[in-house]
Amino acid sequence: MSNNKREDKQKRQSSPIWSKLLPSIIQVRVPVPFSLKWINSYILLEQQGTFTVIDPGLRTPEAEAVWANVMSELKLEWSSCTAIVVTHQHPDHYGLSGYVQQLSGAPVYMTRDAKAYTEKLWGAGSEQFERDMKQLLHTHGTPDDITEAILLNLREFQARVEPQPDVTYVEAGEALLAGDRHWQLIHTEGHAYGGIMLYDANEKLLLCGDQVLPRITPHVGVVAGEDRPVLQQFLNHLQQIAELEVSLVLPGHREPFTRYRERIESILQHHERRLAELYSYIAENGAVDAFVCCEWMFGSHLRDQPHNMRFALTEVIAHLQYLQQQGKLLEQPDAAGKLIYSVR
Ligand SMILES: [Zn+2]
Repeated sequence: MSNNKREDKQKRQSSPIWSKLLPSIIQVRVPVPFSLKWINSYILLEQQGTFTVIDPGLRTPEAEAVWANVMSELKLEWSSCTAIVVTHQHPDHYGLSGYVQQLSGAPVYMTRDAKAYTEKLWGAGSEQFERDMKQLLHTHGTPDDITEAILLNLREFQARVEPQPDVTYVEAGEALLAGDRHWQLIHTEGHAYGGIMLYDANEKLLLCGDQVLPRITPHVGVVAGEDRPVLQQFLNHLQQIAELEVSLVLPGHREPFTRYRERIESILQHHERRLAELYSYIAENGAVDAFVCCEWMFGSHLRDQPHNMRFALTEVIAHLQYLQQQGKLLEQPDAAGKLIYSVR
């Protein structure tokens, strides 16, 4: 082992809840009460003793306790937090931002589109969103009891994003100075509206939110009340961002990784495979709705897991709509208004 490597190893420190990835970047594993287990938040340390937090997590007592321990173990004070950046508005990333803002007084940076979306989910638009979600699930063949369980699960997130922050808008295309680095803000598509990634071109670091994840594929699902070709947008976007030179990816879930382009390639292949499987299933089984396809693909055990069921179902609908937009499937309402897919 060279001297440099030995020094590096000595400098690298970690605990079960945080790891020092680079001298000035700390990964914090903030627990979430669902299958993903934790979300990665990142602390970007600054030379003058201040720091920036990326995606503080979902508001739960466990997450608050983890943050209290991290602050104490790293000997940091919230008063030294100068900025909170939220890559996208999903509650596991955004939920604690208002709480951290209360503790620190720091600005919360996110895009106008992402913030507007929080209004839709947990603000003035939430009743309409619930009606749209109910309609979406019904139209795609979801049994009523499962629809109700999904709506109840969605409502439970309200308390996990409180208090909601005062937001300072940033937009893709802008530059942001944080952690003594100049980050380019790059827009994302397909996983969440109005999302951004932070790219440091000097060190080729990418804080990518959930856009490229190791081992698990980022969720790409249709959104109730919206009519956007999310899967097409996601796949196009992945192809665009594959051009970036990236030596270390700091993702929103699981562990940081290096093989950026290989990972993008395997996510693209995953969707190609899924699309082909879904098409063959419908070709062999005739006209079906999305709920039937979802149970075939993921199994009926999701009936007891409304959170995972919502993810699975909205993703299957995104795949079906993609095949329909490609001219491979027909999408037709039956007499009851339920959407039925068949091969062209
Ligand atoms: Zn997300």
